[in-house]
Amino acid sequence: MESSRLFEFASQLLKETFGFKNFRPAQEAVIKNLFEGKDTLALLPTGGGKSICYQIPALVLPGTCVVVSPLLALMKDQVDNLCENGVAAAALNSQVSKEEALEIRKKAIQGELKLLYLSPERIQFELDHLLSRMEISLFAVDEAHCISQWGHDFRPEYSELHALRERFPQTPLVALTATADSVTRQDILTQLEIPKENIVLSSFDRPNLSLSVKVNYRKKEKIDEIEKFIHKHKQESGIVYCLSRRNTESVASELRSRGIIAEAYHAGLETAERIQIQEDFLNDRTQVICATTAFGMGIDKPDIRFVIHYNTPKNMEGYYQEIGRAGRDGMPSDTLLFYSDSDMVQLAKFAEESGEKDLQIEKLHRIEHYATSPICRRRILLSYFGEPFDHDCKNCDICKNPPRRFDGTILAQKALSAIARTRQKENSHMIVDILRGNRSSELLEKHYDEIKTYGVGKTTPPAKWNAYLMQLVHLGAIEKSYEQDQHLSITPYGWEVLRGEKKLELALVRDADSVPAKQFRPVKTAATEDDSMFQALRSLRMEIARKENVPAYYIFNDKVLAEIAALKPTCLEDFAEVPGIGAFKCKKYGQIFVKEICHML
Ligand code: ADP
Ligand code: ZN
Repeated sequence: MESSRLFEFASQLLKETFGFKNFRPAQEAVIKNLFEGKDTLALLPTGGGKSICYQIPALVLPGTCVVVSPLLALMKDQVDNLCENGVAAAALNSQVSKEEALEIRKKAIQGELKLLYLSPERIQFELDHLLSRMEISLFAVDEAHCISQWGHDFRPEYSELHALRERFPQTPLVALTATADSVTRQDILTQLEIPKENIVLSSFDRPNLSLSVKVNYRKKEKIDEIEKFIHKHKQESGIVYCLSRRNTESVASELRSRGIIAEAYHAGLETAERIQIQEDFLNDRTQVICATTAFGMGIDKPDIRFVIHYNTPKNMEGYYQEIGRAGRDGMPSDTLLFYSDSDMVQLAKFAEESGEKDLQIEKLHRIEHYATSPICRRRILLSYFGEPFDHDCKNCDICKNPPRRFDGTILAQKALSAIARTRQKENSHMIVDILRGNRSSELLEKHYDEIKTYGVGKTTPPAKWNAYLMQLVHLGAIEKSYEQDQHLSITPYGWEVLRGEKKLELALVRDADSVPAKQFRPVKTAATEDDSMFQALRSLRMEIARKENVPAYYIFNDKVLAEIAALKPTCLEDFAEVPGIGAFKCKKYGQIFVKEICHML
């Protein structure tokens, strides 16, 4: 069949099987490429809809699509989801029993599967034993960045993938990833022999994620803030990322003591324990996971509504990947980053020991810039990833609370004077304590309560002082050292300001909390749109999920549920029209949902 006919067929199947009206632009480009027999590298952000890029061609083309995926949990999720939608799919990996494996192999050889998922370590073996005996329509290499030694997720088995190219030179291949800097990108192209012109790159913006940053909060302030934050997300799932195992434990137990169902997750736990924690999270029995960055790689939960960084991340790549785990279903989700000088000191130490110090330190500077500049966060973020973004996003804390400038000379002089009078030896916490007139024992010991600047900044709360100090750093009036003591020192320009020879403008820091966050949400949330209907459908979904022993989002994800709540279909024909509902699920769940809706109206 010619490729345009194939594409027509593909659009039809998209609606029938998955209930989506249109392909997203990147999906369309990838699928058209594949129908023309072009090997393709697809770079789509998390939630960009990578799986459709090969699942639909798998349904359209004769034979079986072989998907290489490194993450067992993700594999299971995808296979379950496909089966839920009536698609013949299976996975061969270490979790499958011998008998099951035998059955799957038989089906694969007889051409009864549309998709077969394989873990990378099986490729070499299966080349002779299985793949050579199958009719293969397409290879899909998921998480393709794992092929690169330069990336942070390098998997040696991925280097074996070029064997697929040698053995099946005629079979089209698509490589997919959400994280690839230019070096990694080049690696994927070379190793899988994909021509450069066959890259499909979609925007990396995730407009449904709100971005916000708090600077230099202390432990207690952080926990209070997190509690407030979670309070706004009642019954919604979220992750709190921490730098150390110990932090994951202590934050989880703090949250538990405040009545939040939270668990710690890190590489030090037993495998069984880790699996249990994941399961409880997927099935909405645990609301919050406090985790090291080990958590999330295999987590495909689409309804994570918030991601908090309790500690400063070590680079923008990791940060973006981690916040990217929120809102994969496209619904509004919130992110919060706690940036702190003390984390930076620790991260700088790691960077020193990393063997590529300059690069890592530079990456730290970019994080600092992101967290502390009074400029739209999304602008900084996307420009870091080389994507032009020429307007303010309206969905970050800076845009929601745009800075007004004022003559900050006097305010700056107070801070500069405190720094000068402590002989440029103290960090920002101490300087703020002095300005606020606090009576900490260290401060009193050092007789800082006797200096002229003591208490002159009483009316300005500590969080604001911290933000102003940071601005002074950006403006080049003070310098902050990344050594252990993180002391602040005054630059030549700073001395001029202190002596009154130069004026200086600051961006007014206001109380972020005085503005209700919800007001700025770009998309109406399900909860505000049609609350009682949504909640009723949500309980119904939970009931079904419990009965079938699957996560709630397997039935319908939040986005689809919100569509149902908004459209309120009262018959099966209308139910089938709801975006995101395919024929199979309509048949399976239509009746019971329609009944509930009629009952509610
Ligand atoms: P990724 O693997 O890139 O992170 P997924 O394949 O999980 O993304 O898709 C993310 C979300 O987008 C899912 O909820 C999926 O159902 C939805 N989605 C994918 N393709 C489309 C489409 N063409 N139209 C509407 N929603 C889509
Ligand atoms: Zn913004």
